[in-house]
Amino acid sequence: MSKQKHTMEKFDGRCCICRGPIAVEYGHWKLGHNADPIHVGHGRCCRLCNDGLVIPVRLASAFQRKINENFPGNPGGAGDVRSDPEG
Ligand SMILES: [Zn+2]
Repeated sequence: MSKQKHTMEKFDGRCCICRGPIAVEYGHWKLGHNADPIHVGHGRCCRLCNDGLVIPVRLASAFQRKINENFPGNPGGAGDVRSDPEG
């Protein structure tokens, strides 16, 4: 079995994105937010970075995945401009 390394042991109470201190939330929660996919596999982020960066990136990648599912022949997704050198 594989034991997943916990991010907790590395956690220094600071946001892995902006390096600012992570505030206590909900009266007791001091581990901030999961920074995936901006910081994959390690680190926690503050609420500002979570709301302003992590969530939009997560939504965008989910959206991109949906595009790829619905238009499998178009790997670049919408707005992909292909230049044809033979053209
Ligand atoms: Zn931050």
